[in-house]
Amino acid sequence: MIVDVHVHSLPRTDRDILPMMREECRRNGVLLCLLSSLGKDNWPRFPTTKDISMANQTACSLAENSKGLLRWYVYINPQNSNWRKELDKCVAQGAIGIKLWLSLKDKHGKLTNTKKVLQYAACLKKPVLIHTFNRTDESLPGEINIAEFMELARRHPRAKMIAAHAGIHWPSETGLFQRLPNVWVDICGGYPLKGQVEALVREIGADRILFGSDFMGRSQASQVAKVMLSDISEEQKENIFYRNAASLFGLNITPQKHFVPELYNCPVDATEDHFCFCGQWPFFKSASSTPKELHSLLVKTGIKRAYVADLGGIYRQDLGAANAAFLKAVREFERIKPLAIINPQVANWQSVLESMSPEFAGIILFPFLHGWSLADARYKNLFRWCRQHEIRVWINCSMDDARFRHPGTVSRAVSAEDLLSYGALAKTSTTVFQGVSRDVMDAFLKRHSRDKRFSFEISRLTDASGALRNMLKKYGKGRLVMGSEYPFRDMAQVRWTSQRV
Ligand SMILES: [Zn+2]
Repeated sequence: MIVDVHVHSLPRTDRDILPMMREECRRNGVLLCLLSSLGKDNWPRFPTTKDISMANQTACSLAENSKGLLRWYVYINPQNSNWRKELDKCVAQGAIGIKLWLSLKDKHGKLTNTKKVLQYAACLKKPVLIHTFNRTDESLPGEINIAEFMELARRHPRAKMIAAHAGIHWPSETGLFQRLPNVWVDICGGYPLKGQVEALVREIGADRILFGSDFMGRSQASQVAKVMLSDISEEQKENIFYRNAASLFGLNITPQKHFVPELYNCPVDATEDHFCFCGQWPFFKSASSTPKELHSLLVKTGIKRAYVADLGGIYRQDLGAANAAFLKAVREFERIKPLAIINPQVANWQSVLESMSPEFAGIILFPFLHGWSLADARYKNLFRWCRQHEIRVWINCSMDDARFRHPGTVSRAVSAEDLLSYGALAKTSTTVFQGVSRDVMDAFLKRHSRDKRFSFEISRLTDASGALRNMLKKYGKGRLVMGSEYPFRDMAQVRWTSQRV
């Protein structure tokens, strides 16, 4: 049984979204959602009085028509002079909490008005759900991070405050959380980075964590997976899924019978993995492992063949040596099919390629992390050479969540145009694209859905509700392969989610 404390309505639609919400919740065993609307026509970062009022009326009427599936938050822009009037009106209409998104700081960067809202929320005894992000780039105007959230919580001990998203990027947040009696976090939104729930349990305790999904921005299943697959006790999971929310919001919930999900039979072959890594990531301690550990995990997850590259090799400049060492380390593990890393930005790339052992299953390229473009004519030789020598190619188009990358590195987003210019080349090898979003994949498949040279692994499709089914309906399973994005995600996460989205 699940209470989802963080869902949104969609802007720019008069469509009745309740059937979609009901279906998503049914599939994931969600009994109740707490919804906020951030705008009817769009989501302005500093909404006007009129924007706010329309947003709240949307939330209120959705809740009223939901037959008990939804309760709602009143959304407030503390910079609007009439926020208190709006808040009182919506509480009288049944809002059970207050939502703050980006407009917490005024144009001088001060939180003065937000502090007044928190004082008033404490008087009303209404919990306040506050968006928090610890992004690598500058925060958005008005946005706060976890350190600022904690400072506010210390100054307003009577206000019950929820840090939405828990700042998102847990590896860089250790030590920022404090166990205060007025503080909760939700796990929602963002990329399902492995280890988030366990880290939050260590930092703040399972009694202070709420389940949220950020649906309709994210698929509910990708967020449920974070808790289901986490390494914590069943009792802690139940607290996160509903007990903590029930006691914080005073919800009267009758425990349901054991929920049995109706699983979707995803036709993509789950015994292969086309997005998997070994070794250590340089930027934070990842779950990834020695070849031996990886191999036993593959056995446990039922993966017979994983096309694997070495995380530690990605930023190496002596790739000939790095590839050779990796091959030697994985040689005895039959389920690991090694990929040689090639970086055409490094002077000797051609010699690395030409001297590559035939034991490699293929090569992997990182235009995203190595900062080059697939559309750049200088690299045609590389693609032609692979084709001539029948070398299979994996192209990594993104990894992890770029909003939280190490600030000392740059990455270059791979666009639909980049992929299309690669697809238009007459001579390319069999190619698997990793980490491609639904829209870019769709733009490519519109032209190449029957071209057997190309496949996409599906991890990103499981993050957005309906994306995987939609792609299967449009193009069939022929161009899709399974990818776990291990160790950034739990190895089972994409497989688990693909049966529920
Ligand atoms: Zn949200």
